[in-house]
Amino acid sequence: MADKPKLEITLCAPRGFCAGVDRAIQIVELALEKYGAPVYVRHAIVHNKYVVEGLRQKGAVFVEELDEIPPSEAPVVFSAHGVPKSVPADAAGRNMFFLDATCPLVSKVHVEAQRHFSEGHEIVLIGHRGHPEVVGTMGQLPPGAISLVETVADAEAFVPQDPGKLAFVTQTTLSVDDTSAIVAVLRRRFPAVVGPHREDICYATTNRQEAVKQVAARSEVLLVLGSANSSNSVRLAEVGRRAGATAYLIDDAAGLDLAWLAGAKAVGVTAGASAPEVLVQGVIERLAEVFEVTVEEPDAARETVSFKLPKAVA
Ligand code: SF4
Repeated sequence: MADKPKLEITLCAPRGFCAGVDRAIQIVELALEKYGAPVYVRHAIVHNKYVVEGLRQKGAVFVEELDEIPPSEAPVVFSAHGVPKSVPADAAGRNMFFLDATCPLVSKVHVEAQRHFSEGHEIVLIGHRGHPEVVGTMGQLPPGAISLVETVADAEAFVPQDPGKLAFVTQTTLSVDDTSAIVAVLRRRFPAVVGPHREDICYATTNRQEAVKQVAARSEVLLVLGSANSSNSVRLAEVGRRAGATAYLIDDAAGLDLAWLAGAKAVGVTAGASAPEVLVQGVIERLAEVFEVTVEEPDAARETVSFKLPKAVA
């Protein structure tokens, strides 16, 4: 048999699960253990097909809106992305037993937006239209209180009611570089704008993008494990492309097309904050079937963030 071609795999570190995803999944799993199936989950608990399917098999029932849930005493979990204020109000009105798996770093942005509003500021939210986190953050305040800005062009065109009373907040899973360009436009046009020191992008998003920049710069191909609806996973592929690699976003090893690696000597592998490590290992195993692989993982700052569980499942 011919020798297998050599392939150097560099694993990005950190990669994969963040503290908010870990907590959200635990809330559903512990609710299933404590209260039994079904446990209803409003929206995909985190944007990852493998995770959602695994929880479905354990008895989680995923819905998009509360009115899809039949009258029941079963727990209802709100996803990690956060929900508009109307959702817990609606659940309380229906006497539902609900558990909020909103990531505490998303809740922090909700609190910031509320504070700006109570101080009389008009608020700009930098984010992607339609993403559930954006829907949730905008839904913390009355309609019209928050304006969405998605691009540098939007920031250039934005006309505030009073440039002296303007604040901004951001989605947590954006591109660090794109967001800093948008913030720079807001600060230039409206010097009195108030907001976070840089943006509200979370530690996990920032660290994973930084790791991808390093690895993609010395890889021909970058494989990002994550689902297409996962904002932070999609951003990782974009960051990898900008750093010079040909990047692909795949759900799992089955999504890998070996033709992408024809002639490649160095491949980088990472995983979005909602993608479990087992998927990364599956890709390495698949690559090892056809290549003689060496696997390297540069040292990285270890993440020590963890969040408390709600009392109802702790
Ligand atoms: Fe929280 Fe960031 Fe993870 Fe989203 S990516 S769940 S904001 S830690």
